[in-house]
Amino acid sequence: MRFEDFNLDPMINEGLQAMGFEKPTPIQEKAIPLIMSGVDIIGCAQTGTGKTAAFILPVLHHLLQNPTKGVNTIILAPTRELAMQIDQQIEGFSYFTNASSIAVYGGGDGQDYVRQKRALKTGADIIIATPGRLISLIGSKEVDLSQLNHLILDEADRMLDMGFHDDIMKIISALPKKRQTLLFSATMPPNIRKLAKGIMGSYEEISIKISKPAEGIDQRAIMAHDPQKEALLTEVLKNDDFQSVIVFASTREKVKNIARTLKKRGDKVQDFHSDLDQSEREKIMQQFKARNLRVLIGTDILSRGIDVEGIDLVVNFDVPPDPEDYVHRIGRTARASKTGTAITFINPRDIPKFRQIEKLIEKELKKEQPPSELGEGPQYRSAGRNRGGGKGGKRHGRRSSRNPKGKRRGGSFRSGKKSGGGSRRGGGSNRKSR
Ligand code: AMP
Repeated sequence: MRFEDFNLDPMINEGLQAMGFEKPTPIQEKAIPLIMSGVDIIGCAQTGTGKTAAFILPVLHHLLQNPTKGVNTIILAPTRELAMQIDQQIEGFSYFTNASSIAVYGGGDGQDYVRQKRALKTGADIIIATPGRLISLIGSKEVDLSQLNHLILDEADRMLDMGFHDDIMKIISALPKKRQTLLFSATMPPNIRKLAKGIMGSYEEISIKISKPAEGIDQRAIMAHDPQKEALLTEVLKNDDFQSVIVFASTREKVKNIARTLKKRGDKVQDFHSDLDQSEREKIMQQFKARNLRVLIGTDILSRGIDVEGIDLVVNFDVPPDPEDYVHRIGRTARASKTGTAITFINPRDIPKFRQIEKLIEKELKKEQPPSELGEGPQYRSAGRNRGGGKGGKRHGRRSSRNPKGKRRGGSFRSGKKSGGGSRRGGGSNRKSR
């Protein structure tokens, strides 16, 4: 299938050509015709699938066919970074059209607010906003929403995680009832379905799951008992090739402990979890993007939606509970066809979980041992006859001991592959009108 097959406005096709988009991604193939037909949809898709273009292109097409005087489309996004990224994509797709867009978000200074208010007054077809800032702007009566045709919620699960539910409902109460609503979310927990029921009529559901990690990721697995893991991480980080690192751990407490240990060693490290408020999280992300932080340690809250380019290494300090989460987490590296490394620490309890992951990725990884000075790690029981890991199952390999010294050859922590480049996304002006 080609983009021309959607019969989008020719100006949009020109923009796509200029951006080098040739073939629609699977979610674009599914979503674009549905959205063009005018139905509400829920899309279950993660960052990296092309979901942004999937909702922008049909909305832009509709806008060009049916121009409005006031705001035509509102896109709600959880963070300023995402709002800016969406705006940049719109800028590309609409380059040959006269559609205008503006990103409005909090976190800036008072001047930012004044600038955004002024820009809105002169009119914008598409507003990409974080919920809090949009509420202030609606309150100031600077925005004409009476003509609104489309409402899009991007990364809805993350917005709910960040406590935006009431803000979203408040915004929706200020919008015309007759509109098209599109909700995108990386996961579909019950609170998302409840939100959808509250704000949409009948809707179509589409789902695109990434079940294969990108080819460019060098995936590694190291066997480690829990008490060995912090020292093992420290060893891994001795490799200077890894300059931009994300570490995932299962609980907030663990995240904090690991951060404390690494900080003591003088690494530029920051913990990232739900105890931090949004502005703190954004500040940390900015520092990480600017490469002023080497290591970001977080719970799964980190794996959603961040689009930082040039991450060299993702470490799964614990095996993620869900195989899809593994793909999701390691997808933070090797983005946009670059290469990167993902290392997973496996303790004996997590072996069955890791088998599920290998099943999903259809690949068996070599199970490395920690360096000898850290003692012997557990043995990986091969799958096969031992399914289910029940007590009576026959086990292969030697029994592991906790800290026997110097029995095995240490693993090397050379990355082999290295990703390059920093973030190319910048701030810049936040309004365009052509
Ligand atoms: P998204 O999942 O929307 O964040 O998109 C991930 C990246 O893929 C972005 O950098 C897009 O510009 C790019 N992209 C999306 N759709 C396509 C496509 N059909 N062809 C080429 N690149 C694409």
